Amino acid sequence: MATTYHLLFPRAEPRLLSIVVPVYNEEEVLPLLIRRLQELLGKFSCPVEVILVNDGSTDRTVVGLHALAQQDRRFRVLNLARNFGHQIAATAGLDAARGEAIVLMDADLQDPPELILEMLARYREGYDVVYAQRTTREGESAFKRLTAWAFYRLMRAWVHRDLPPDVGDYRLVSRRCLDALNQMREVHRFLRGMVTWAGFPQTAVPFSRPKRAAGETKYPLRKMLKFAWTAAVSFSPLPLRLSMAMGALAFSIGAAYTLYALVRLALGLYVVPGWASLLVSTCLQSGVILMSIGILGEYVARIFEEVKGRPLYLVSDRFNCDSANLSAESTATSLAELATSVNAHAPAPVAEPKLTP
Ligand code: UDP
Ligand code: MG
Repeated sequence: MATTYHLLFPRAEPRLLSIVVPVYNEEEVLPLLIRRLQELLGKFSCPVEVILVNDGSTDRTVVGLHALAQQDRRFRVLNLARNFGHQIAATAGLDAARGEAIVLMDADLQDPPELILEMLARYREGYDVVYAQRTTREGESAFKRLTAWAFYRLMRAWVHRDLPPDVGDYRLVSRRCLDALNQMREVHRFLRGMVTWAGFPQTAVPFSRPKRAAGETKYPLRKMLKFAWTAAVSFSPLPLRLSMAMGALAFSIGAAYTLYALVRLALGLYVVPGWASLLVSTCLQSGVILMSIGILGEYVARIFEEVKGRPLYLVSDRFNCDSANLSAESTATSLAELATSVNAHAPAPVAEPKLTP
């Protein structure tokens, strides 16, 4: 698919950088994470806040987070009432973020925080989404690597054509992109797909994914499958369309067999008595039923799109569009003023933007 061209306007440092980290049962990792982050924070030339979201941990994570918030005001802590799952915990953190640039990362140091410096450089070039792309994965089982590999390929083939491969949720987004994401309040969330959906200039920084610093994965097979299922069904009506396809197939087989039996009959060839009519009626019937379910599915798919209540479109730039519109109460003078202002104003000089990709 052809890539959309974007204009890249160079930016200043964000006035505030937010780092959002969902944390679930990471008692062992927490001290390591805090040390790494505290070392890193001094290297930024902009102010930084870290938002740690405790996703209803069942170990002593919350105690550590509370103690941290007491001694270092750069760390803000959200303690969720129970375990809501990674994607929701991340959303809670993103909602609380106040920064102009926002980074989402995992707590287990599989997302090396130092990469944020590189992401910020791309942000200043004008990119709105800078995702971290894994080139290698250390210390993960062959099974995990295989399933992850297959997941991204299948998703790209069937559901999310633009989903960047081998990219998790570790990424930096600009304020305008986050504002767009925040408008999407769907319950079954697949954040990386939502970011892709939003568009905006996006780019990758490559990194080699280290293994978990301590503790165990919080994504067992059960959660992984659920996640993959959400990724597929909350973005695509494809599964609903399957019954339409199967119905059409059954119906065609029935129709073809009818034709075949009639031709044999006309030619005076032997037709097993009763067999053709049985086969034909079964195929046609199931075809009709499956297709009706498919049609129902089409309506369900539309309802599903409607209830998601996503914004219809997102605007990334506006040129000469910032003046107020003419409301019904506009007086003749304001109309005249607007007309002169439109005609008289020379365009304000802006720095020449670069073009992606
Ligand atoms: N996590 C969470 N809630 C959950 C499961 C995981 O907030 O219900 C967090 C976890 O603490 C970590 C991140 O999500 O910061 C990713 O989890 P993990 O590293 O276990 O996943 P993996 O890297 O193995 O896919
Ligand atoms: Mg991990």
